[in-house]
Amino acid sequence: MSQVREPAAASPALRPPAVPAALSHQDLRDDDFWRQLPGYRGLSAAEFQDYRFQSRNAVTSVAKLQEVVGDLVPASFYQDVSQGILRSTMSLRLSPYILSLIDWQHPVEDPLRLQFLPLASRWVPDHPELALDSLHEQEHSPVPGLTHRYADRALFLALDTCPVYCRFCTRSYAVGLDTPKVEKMHFGASSERWEQAFAYIAAHPELEDIVVSGGDVYNLRPEQIEYIGSTLLAMDNIRRLRFATKGPAVVPQKLVGDHEWTGALLRVVERSRQLHKAVALHTHFNHPNEITAITRQGLDRLAEQGVVVRNQCVLQRGVNDQPATMQLLVKRLSFVNVQPYYVFVHDMVKGVEELRTPLQTAIDLEKQVRGTTAGFHTPTFVLDTMGGGGKRDVHSYEYYDRKHGIAVFTSPTVRPGAQFLYFDPVHTLSPQVQQRWQDGGERAAMMRAALDEAVARPR
Ligand SMILES: *Cc1c(COP(=O)(O)O)cnc(C)c1O
Ligand code: SF4
Repeated sequence: MSQVREPAAASPALRPPAVPAALSHQDLRDDDFWRQLPGYRGLSAAEFQDYRFQSRNAVTSVAKLQEVVGDLVPASFYQDVSQGILRSTMSLRLSPYILSLIDWQHPVEDPLRLQFLPLASRWVPDHPELALDSLHEQEHSPVPGLTHRYADRALFLALDTCPVYCRFCTRSYAVGLDTPKVEKMHFGASSERWEQAFAYIAAHPELEDIVVSGGDVYNLRPEQIEYIGSTLLAMDNIRRLRFATKGPAVVPQKLVGDHEWTGALLRVVERSRQLHKAVALHTHFNHPNEITAITRQGLDRLAEQGVVVRNQCVLQRGVNDQPATMQLLVKRLSFVNVQPYYVFVHDMVKGVEELRTPLQTAIDLEKQVRGTTAGFHTPTFVLDTMGGGGKRDVHSYEYYDRKHGIAVFTSPTVRPGAQFLYFDPVHTLSPQVQQRWQDGGERAAMMRAALDEAVARPR
């Protein structure tokens, strides 16, 4: 008898060819989608394709937003955004590309609007245990902007600006302009700070792998990309580099048209080949709507030169927490030669509680995604623990109290013996439990109980 129980199925030989709807991941938007916006109605494809147009016309204020989107939405929408910005930890910045891909008939539910435009009417109070630098990147920081948490790799924040600003940014303590809510630490692209970081990296033979991030390396000048790349690759200890950028997801035009920037990246990749080392680009797509024919054109330039591109995605409620959306994202990324690498459970970040999901959502999604495509294109669902324990597979919790929304993790390779907590959003819990979270004493008791249980009942 078979150990696998299956419903009666047609013989595989009779499996009919897939219907077109099953191949929707190959359907990349190729229309003049920006023309839906009054402000861009007269723009030709050539003008919209110009990466300089994209950066010069980034939308950084509500007034500018109103200029472009006009009467597609009522005045109350703009008021809602203005109020939302007052509470946000990130300043406003969207590319025309992203702005044009928002469905302005349904902006409140739109997955791209959700990531970039705060609405005060959607505000959910922060979790009481939440902090600005929840990952404690400062604590593992021997040099400003260099985080050495894992033995063999380090995170180098080369600069603190990005082509867009995401509401949910984990590095809101440093990235972007100061806001009414946050006065930031700044890690500008300064050569003195860089030299300190390079000296530290060269002096630590265990460091083999450097993540060059920010901010966003899209905003580095070509000579800066080349300088960082060649300096690090010249170190005997360094075997791997990754350049981290959201660029391909928000201004793919730059990959098509900025030959100096892509040229610099390609030269660093070529140099790594000569040295038998590896350089990859790590990018950040969160929703299949972000991938269009323009994206494909840009990524094709990298594919032609054999550049490895991987994706790190942030799980967000209403954006990509449905199985069909995540499956489509994974398939579409694969179609344009991007390897889905990680899906991160949303960090405990201030001001975006509406976007977080319970840990359980990530566990359920993983089950729905694995098997969709090749295993090497199947992302690992991870949680970056609060307090600096590093990334953990979502399934590896020591204890998960779903009723009170508390998960306990350990991290033997980063901090042996320590316990790390993650909290589900309070508004997803029962009314009685929500009450308990309002009380300091009750909170401490719930956390204590979970930590004790994790020790008493190892899985
Ligand atoms: C994520 C991260 C890395 C890289 O970790 P991988 O699991 O190899 O992608 C390195 N340093 C820090 C501080 C990180 O947060
Ligand atoms: S692009 Fe990355 S670093 Fe920049 S705001 Fe968005 S999430 Fe933060």
